Amino acid sequence: MAKTKAFQTESKKLLNLMINSIYTHKEIFLRELISNASDAIDKRHHLSLTDDKVDAADDYEIFIETDEENRTLTIHDNGIGLTEKELETQLGTIAESGTKNFIETLEKKDALETIGQFGVGFYSAFMVSKRVFVKTKSPYSEEAYLWQSEGESTYQIEPTKKDTTGTSITLVLRDDDEENEEDYSTYLKEATIKQTIKKYSDYVRYPIKMKVSQEVPDENDEDKTVTKETIETLNSMVPIWKRPKNEIKDEEINDFYKRTFNDFEDPLHTVHTSVEGLITYTALLFIPKKPPYDFYTENYEKGLDLYSRGVFIQEKNKDLIPEHFRFVKGLVDSADLSLNLSREMLQHNRQLKKIAVHIEKKIKSELEKMLKNNRETYVEFYEAYGSNLKYGIYDQFGAHKEKLQDLIMFKTNKSDAFITLEEYIERKPKEQTHIYYASGKNKAQIMNLPQMDLIKDKDYEVLLFTDDVDEFMVQVLNAYQELEFKSIQQGESDLLDDDTKEDLKTQEKAHAKLLNALKKSLKDQVKDVKLTGRLKESPVCLTSGEGLSLEMEKVLSKMPNQQGMKADRILEINPHHELFKALETIHETKPKKIDDYASLLYHQALLIEGYPIDDPKKMSDLMVQLMVEATKAQS
Ligand code: ADP
Repeated sequence: MAKTKAFQTESKKLLNLMINSIYTHKEIFLRELISNASDAIDKRHHLSLTDDKVDAADDYEIFIETDEENRTLTIHDNGIGLTEKELETQLGTIAESGTKNFIETLEKKDALETIGQFGVGFYSAFMVSKRVFVKTKSPYSEEAYLWQSEGESTYQIEPTKKDTTGTSITLVLRDDDEENEEDYSTYLKEATIKQTIKKYSDYVRYPIKMKVSQEVPDENDEDKTVTKETIETLNSMVPIWKRPKNEIKDEEINDFYKRTFNDFEDPLHTVHTSVEGLITYTALLFIPKKPPYDFYTENYEKGLDLYSRGVFIQEKNKDLIPEHFRFVKGLVDSADLSLNLSREMLQHNRQLKKIAVHIEKKIKSELEKMLKNNRETYVEFYEAYGSNLKYGIYDQFGAHKEKLQDLIMFKTNKSDAFITLEEYIERKPKEQTHIYYASGKNKAQIMNLPQMDLIKDKDYEVLLFTDDVDEFMVQVLNAYQELEFKSIQQGESDLLDDDTKEDLKTQEKAHAKLLNALKKSLKDQVKDVKLTGRLKESPVCLTSGEGLSLEMEKVLSKMPNQQGMKADRILEINPHHELFKALETIHETKPKKIDDYASLLYHQALLIEGYPIDDPKKMSDLMVQLMVEATKAQS
């Protein structure tokens, strides 16, 4: 006699969501049913070791069978099966608290569309079925049972005949719905089943088998073929990351990387790590040789793929990788994660957070190792992703700077190879009290900066900042090993000796009138005009006040909404250069000419620093005029 029972309230809600689901990846029902079958086999296997009532099967397997005529798809397993009571408690109610929370989230958010993305268990069968049969035999019950339901409010259970332990779940597929482009018949097709299993369940530990038909040459007639039915295993069973490390060939893992992450090159670096203890997981991480084309844009999506015991849960989980290591691709497989997790819950999952912390540490230590032991590879890595690390220091007001500061490198006026900050400090002269840097387009331009005069004189090393992010990063980094960073193009120079300082004071007093005249004439262009001790060979240079630098102004001017930001410009003049003496003469003999000379001086400073000239026409006219006057004076 069949007994009719009502689903528990929560189950009804979930079923209702499933039945009305408009989710487009309905194929995940197969992943869910296969995952249940695999769990049931696990259970039988474990119990067979400890419980006399449970016998092990000779060969564990999951078998898929289709029947086109009756539109059914059946998933057989020889797992633990269900007793009558279990059919009621396991399939009639939702015990799993995760699933309950999942429904609550869905209800609150009206997020029907997201339903199929998560482990939603047995009920997902109703996304594609109009009726579901569960025929099952447990070793704890004499009798076998048949459970069936249309997924509405009730289900029926009746005794049935089944000799072997295990469960067969038969789905009567819904009719195709052309209007809504729903093709349920596809789940009867060999190709769809094969593809779906490869995609979601390739790594299930037990073989998933199916009868497939193949065209083979006819033995009696060479020109003909006959259809032969064979049984094929559709999954590869062992995830590559679960195999012992020493048995995996580099080539295999590289192939896996290329296939899974769509790269045509081998990865630059691979990390295969297993952690056991309070949290248990295996991670397989890759650093691609080259950043993907969209890496430095907003379109790039970071993340690691998430598996639970070989079953795929989620693509690119963002929370597993911090922004500063967003170039890492790969996957995490953790038995501690339940399949029944919604995206919202994954986000707040404590286990996942702990794994993320581990992974960040692991990547950092791998990079440090590479930097120490394999400099060439590290340089290749740094050339590809260095900007991202520097951005990581700048990001979130420097929250991650301690973690990242030993991973960054710079070229210098003395070194065409990258050096780390630690190396910079190790080799600097004892008396040097700052870490000096200079910004510009490239080494050649920086080497020609007038501000390099004093540095060359002192034989100091200067970090070359040629990346847009560098100066922003350094504002946040501020110091390294208690040594402050200092731009040679900003603020007062700290390298002047007492004699020079004394001399400057005297000169400023002596030439106060000239300096005032220059200031007045350039008042719209610069904040100050002053004499400097930092120049040796060069006549003038342009520096900026503390705060925004000229280089930063240039970067900001390229960004939307930031154009208004201006650096304070200061024109510094070398009092011992011949040009200064010429200025003094002009000021005394032809005071009206001083405006032209001031303008020329300012434009010259802009040019040499590599900044656009405010008024090229005026500059050119003044040059011409000067050349003409010079020739006149000579003739
Ligand atoms: P979950 O697998 O997360 O517990 P499901 O809704 O998928 O949630 O399944 C509910 C329960 O039904 C399972 O926990 C298990 O006890 C039982 N079950 C489902 N499928 C099978 C199966 N093939 N064999 C034995 N038991 C099963």
